[in-house]
Amino acid sequence: MSLPVFRFAPSPNGPLHLGHAYSALLNHDLARQADGRFLLRIEDIDRERSRTHFERAIRGDLAWLGLDWEEPVRRQSDHFDDYRTALDRLIEAELVYPAFLSRGDVRALIAEKEARGGAWPRDPDGAPLYPTIERDLPARERRARIEAGAPFAWRLDIDAAMERVSGRLDWREDGAGPQGEAGLIVADPRIWGDFVVARKDLPTSYQLSVVVDDALQGVTHVVRGRDLFHATSGQRLLHELLGLSPPTYLHHDLILGEDGRKLSKSRGDTGLEALRMSGLTPHDIRRMVGL
Ligand code: GLU
Repeated sequence: MSLPVFRFAPSPNGPLHLGHAYSALLNHDLARQADGRFLLRIEDIDRERSRTHFERAIRGDLAWLGLDWEEPVRRQSDHFDDYRTALDRLIEAELVYPAFLSRGDVRALIAEKEARGGAWPRDPDGAPLYPTIERDLPARERRARIEAGAPFAWRLDIDAAMERVSGRLDWREDGAGPQGEAGLIVADPRIWGDFVVARKDLPTSYQLSVVVDDALQGVTHVVRGRDLFHATSGQRLLHELLGLSPPTYLHHDLILGEDGRKLSKSRGDTGLEALRMSGLTPHDIRRMVGL
């Protein structure tokens, strides 16, 4: 039997807060309890928002908390080739298509449909599902647009993708979902519609790189905040389409601010660095997050 593998996978686009500390500590503790491995992964595909000084600060905060992780750390921006290979498989399997619509185009199209009655479906984050009108664009037209330099993302044709799934698509949940459910959860990737597999500026997206990395790193346990519970449905589908075996999941509670709202990287009060400067110890942080 190979060892259990856990990972903490922050995006270096801001300082860590108490919620990240909880997630990192929980992953680390569970890995230790299981005699497993603990990995740190830097999710920096977003070149516009990622900063190396945030990565340094993340390492500093985690070390201060008393965590140690394996080196070298996987930094997503060093591995675009891996995501490109996975994307190419989906292109060859004709499961993705170039999507040219701008946000403005999508808004206008939806406004027009909604004016004629009926609410347009939305994803779990409240964003409207992408219209499916480009799925059957003739190959000639696609080529012409690409050659003319039109920017495009690669989106999954969710209907074609679901047809490739044989049997029930589910995952093992050791935490709890939004309705408190644990155990075997049935994935429902359709809630995301034709979701983005590769963004307009990149050969990948959050969903694709997470799935590829977890598989390449042999991650067996994904432990992360409940805000990513629904994202798991899309990830499970990608495992299936790419022939990867899924990890088990534990979606933990989010640490909320005193006002009951989700913490964000822009809120200084619960930033780890500020807490540390105020004289708190790693032990205090553990106590504050209930560990
Ligand atoms: N990088 C993601 C974030 O910082 C987490 C990805 C994951 O755990 O799957 O929200």
